[in-house]
Amino acid sequence: MYQVIDGKKISQEIKDELREKVLGLKAKGERRCLAVIQVGNDPASSVYVNNKKKACAYIGMESLSYELPEDTTEGALMETIVELNERADVSGILVQLPLPRHIDEKKILLAIAPEKDVDGFHPVNVGNLSIGRPGYVSCTPAGVIQLLKRSGVEIEGKECVVLGRSNIVGKPMAMLLLQENGTVTICHSKTKNLKEITKRADILVVAIGKPKFVDESYVKEGAVVIDVGIHRNEDNKLCGDVDFERVAPHTSAITPVPGGVGPMTIAMLMSNCVM
Ligand code: NAP
Repeated sequence: MYQVIDGKKISQEIKDELREKVLGLKAKGERRCLAVIQVGNDPASSVYVNNKKKACAYIGMESLSYELPEDTTEGALMETIVELNERADVSGILVQLPLPRHIDEKKILLAIAPEKDVDGFHPVNVGNLSIGRPGYVSCTPAGVIQLLKRSGVEIEGKECVVLGRSNIVGKPMAMLLLQENGTVTICHSKTKNLKEITKRADILVVAIGKPKFVDESYVKEGAVVIDVGIHRNEDNKLCGDVDFERVAPHTSAITPVPGGVGPMTIAMLMSNCVM
């Protein structure tokens, strides 16, 4: 029988630990404050921003909300970031993506001071991760490591295959598994003989952005499968990049969608905020 890795429960555990940590910091006179910037009013972004504000309130941390109009210029957004970079009372800055098309996302993310870049997207933080120095780590892959560790899955010495090489999931995921002494292979859209590689995996992390792409023919018997994907299917139900029903019976442990990796992202954002 396989284990269903419960991301909801584990993320709650983490948030409760962080709540204690924030209390401890407050007792020492230290405070943390996250500034969240949203440009425009994309409904999905508004849901994410609200969830982030709620999580801050839950762990007892302050948050500041900047809701800027859709037609905000790149210059004006940049000025807001520069101001927040300089404010001693703001410890973290998060710009909700995607930004409107007239704003260069890369330029904006580069403008956030690396020491306040709680999303872990700034090249300085990405570089620190790759050379094993402390810094902010992208929240979703950091959440996957916590799911594995807190479910008793050992990473050291294991064949780990990451399906996807995006800057926010696949690449940092591979670096983190490497840091945990996994033997890591990264696959992408140009990979040949994909199934041969994924079938070697003791731990398979799937982040390719294609609904139910991975079926049992990609998975070794008894593997641990982590599904990062999130999609809405034709019945408006959430599903992942993995076909859970077909794959689960062949695994030793697997994350569901929803309730797997998803809730971990905000928990790890909160963890970055109180570092
Ligand atoms: P992405 O930027 O679209 O990257 C997808 C990756 O998959 C790319 O590296 C691509 O290869 C690779 N790929 C696509 N088709 C493939 C194929 N047929 N065979 C092998 N590789 C293939 O996606 P992402 O931002 O990493 O996100 C992936 C999924 O995770 C999405 O469903 C997204 O919604 C979800 N997500 C969830 C969370 C969360 O909190 N749970 C957070 C972030 C993302 P190339 O590089 O060669 O194009």
